[in-house]
Amino acid sequence: MGCRPKNPDHPDLHCPSAQPDLPGAVAFGLIEHGGEAPTTAYFEEPVPVTSELLDMAAPLRPTEVFRFSAPCQQQRCSHWEGACTLVDRIVNLLPVSSLTLPPCQIRADCRWFAEQGRDACRRCPQIITQNTRASELMVQAAEPPSRAPGAGKAPTGEAPT
Ligand code: SF4
Repeated sequence: MGCRPKNPDHPDLHCPSAQPDLPGAVAFGLIEHGGEAPTTAYFEEPVPVTSELLDMAAPLRPTEVFRFSAPCQQQRCSHWEGACTLVDRIVNLLPVSSLTLPPCQIRADCRWFAEQGRDACRRCPQIITQNTRASELMVQAAEPPSRAPGAGKAPTGEAPT
């Protein structure tokens, strides 16, 4: 399931915590809410986003139930500062949640893997794009640099957390 990370400057990298309405979005995992903490179960194949798939999440929001991947928005994303600051914070703030590399099918194109390698993957299962039960550390990790205390810049886009 392992593969070599792409160069982070590669023009075709995908965000693994994207909104489903972005062009090219696919679902690649299901959030299991049954345990002590929610965790991602990775699909054997990415699934195209359809209205039927989104409806399956009801009454929750699709981003509370599925993990979506879509082309990295770079400058249009509030986490972007020449690289993904979100995965940087995830790796630096969150504990490892998987000792083994998750069986993830989007690894070859994943921006987080390209930038942070296995350190990102080992923390990835605990990530929920819309997390209503986020720990204090997760809230801190999800905070775009433009909204962090002391930052002077205005947000530049939708935050894919
Ligand atoms: S960080 Fe790793 S496990 Fe998570 S989506 Fe990217 S390649 Fe998959």
